Amino acid sequence: MKTTLETIGIIHSPFKEKFGIPRQPGLVPEAVATLELLPPYDRPEAVAGLDGYSHVWIQFLFHRTMREQWQPTVRPPRLGGNRRVGVFASRSPFRPNPLGLSVMELRGVHCDRGVELELGGVDLLDGTPVVDIKPYVPYVDSIPDARGGFAPAAPERRLPVRFTPQAERQLRQRADGERVRELIRGLLEIDPRPAYRGEEEGERVFGMRLHDFDLRWRVMQGRVEVLELAAGY
Ligand code: SAH
Repeated sequence: MKTTLETIGIIHSPFKEKFGIPRQPGLVPEAVATLELLPPYDRPEAVAGLDGYSHVWIQFLFHRTMREQWQPTVRPPRLGGNRRVGVFASRSPFRPNPLGLSVMELRGVHCDRGVELELGGVDLLDGTPVVDIKPYVPYVDSIPDARGGFAPAAPERRLPVRFTPQAERQLRQRADGERVRELIRGLLEIDPRPAYRGEEEGERVFGMRLHDFDLRWRVMQGRVEVLELAAGY
C-alpha cells in the first residue's frame, strides 16, 4: 500500500500571507487562482471530462502550518476566538494531518501549456501544494437540509469599503486595476480582522500582502478605508 502523498499541483493565488485570506472558499468569488498540474500529472487525459463540472473539490496541504504542534481543541474565529471546539469539529488548519479540503468554482480547464485549472472563490495561500482534485457532484455532495453546527450560515456582516484618492490612483496605474479593486472590496467587506479586534477602530492600520503589493487599510465608524497599495516587498 502506498502511504505517502504526491503533490500533483501547485496553487498560484494572490494571497502571499495567511492573514486576510477568506476563512472558507466561496466567501469571496473574486479571489481567483490557478492550479498548475505538475509532471507526471500534467496530462490533458487526466482532466478529460472535468470541464463538464462547475465546481471541484481540492484537497491540499496546509504547508505553512505543518510544523505546528496539534491540539485536541481549537478556537475557531467563528466563535469569536474565545471558545474551544474539538479539532475534528472544526475546519482549522492546525490538525494532526495538515490536509485541507475546499470546494471551488471551476472557471476553466486549460491544456495549451501543460494543464491549468482556473479556480474561483479560493481560500488558499500562493504556493499551496495540492494532493487531489475531484469533481463536485451535486446529487451526492449537496445536502440542502444539513445542520451546520456552530457555523450554520455564511457570516452576513458586510462593511462598506471606500478607497482613498491615493489608493484609487494606484489602482488606475495597474492593467489589472479593476479586478484588483473588486478583489480588495470582496476581501475587506467581510472583515478579515481577528475576532478579538472586531470592535477596535481608528488608529490601527492593517496590512496584508496581496499580489505584488502590501495592502493597507483601517476601519473607521464601521467602514473600511483602503489607504494604499504600498510598493512591493
Ligand atoms: N476550506 C479549507 C480551509 C479552511 S482554513 C478546509 O476546510 O479544510 C482556511 C485558512 O487556511 C485560510 O484562511 C488561510 O489562513 C489558511 N491557509 C490557506 N492556505 C494555507 C496553506 N497552504 N498553509 C497554511 N494555511 C493556509
